[in-house]
Amino acid sequence: PSPPPYIGRFAPSPTGPLHLGSLYTALASYLDARSRNGWWLLRIDDLDTPRNMPGATERILDCLAAFGLHWDGEADLQSRHGQQYQQAIADLQRRDLLYPCSCSRSLLAEAGPIYPGYCRSQAYRNDQPAALRVKASPGEVEFIDGLQGIIRESIADQHGDFIVLRKDSIVAYQLAVAVDDYRQGITHVVRGSDLLDSTPKQIYLQQLLGYPTPEYLHLPIIVDRNGQKLSKQTRAEAVTATSANQTLFMLLSLLGQNPPPTLKRAEIPTILDWAVARWSPERLRGIRSISIDTPPSNQ
Ligand code: GLU
Repeated sequence: PSPPPYIGRFAPSPTGPLHLGSLYTALASYLDARSRNGWWLLRIDDLDTPRNMPGATERILDCLAAFGLHWDGEADLQSRHGQQYQQAIADLQRRDLLYPCSCSRSLLAEAGPIYPGYCRSQAYRNDQPAALRVKASPGEVEFIDGLQGIIRESIADQHGDFIVLRKDSIVAYQLAVAVDDYRQGITHVVRGSDLLDSTPKQIYLQQLLGYPTPEYLHLPIIVDRNGQKLSKQTRAEAVTATSANQTLFMLLSLLGQNPPPTLKRAEIPTILDWAVARWSPERLRGIRSISIDTPPSNQ
């Protein structure tokens, strides 16, 4: 069958089991895709091997299935597509858009958040391990986010020459995602607003590589009472399938969907059907974060 006009994805990193914040993103991207009769693909972002946790991929797959979030096709593992990332890098290299950078961590820390381009002008000493950086050209990247409105940024001034291949030879997140979204034919990206800062860089790479730009919708992220994003680093609890329907109900409330109380005790497919039929993220417009007081337990 020919692909539908909407292809979305959920792309967790297997650094641990899903927590409430990641399940919330999964649910929103699922509802957005299903409400538009689209495909919902699952990609496991497993390139950053030192951060992968053994068994996390299986736990993520099991958790999504337990919550009734069924994806289309097979789960896609980034680690199986090494050649495509290398081809993209070779393409940029051939066009003189990359350069090696051997700057030390301490030098980079001193330089601040935007790399001042030391290695761009200096001869690189090839006896040292080097990262590859892409040359940021003047000019702006602009896109209209489904919830956050118009975003316009200068790659050169606001991001600088950023890394596409790390010193440890691991393909950098920005390049991997640009290639992945292209090779999977992704038309719509729904993810947390913590990644809003990455989007201009990914669009910049799409433009250099001749890829189309998908539509973006950046959700408010869920933060704890200290304003910290729920994440593995803040030790957000793993979600469990016990009382999955109540967890779904709570997530729908956080997503501004106002589920009726009667839905709380409904079966999972009933809850998801209700949510797909009514999905509208409008109430989240312009919101960058939502605070929950204590990570609600699953009881
Ligand atoms: N793997 C990334 C993460 O878990 C998300 C990638 C994306 O949605 O673009 O933060």
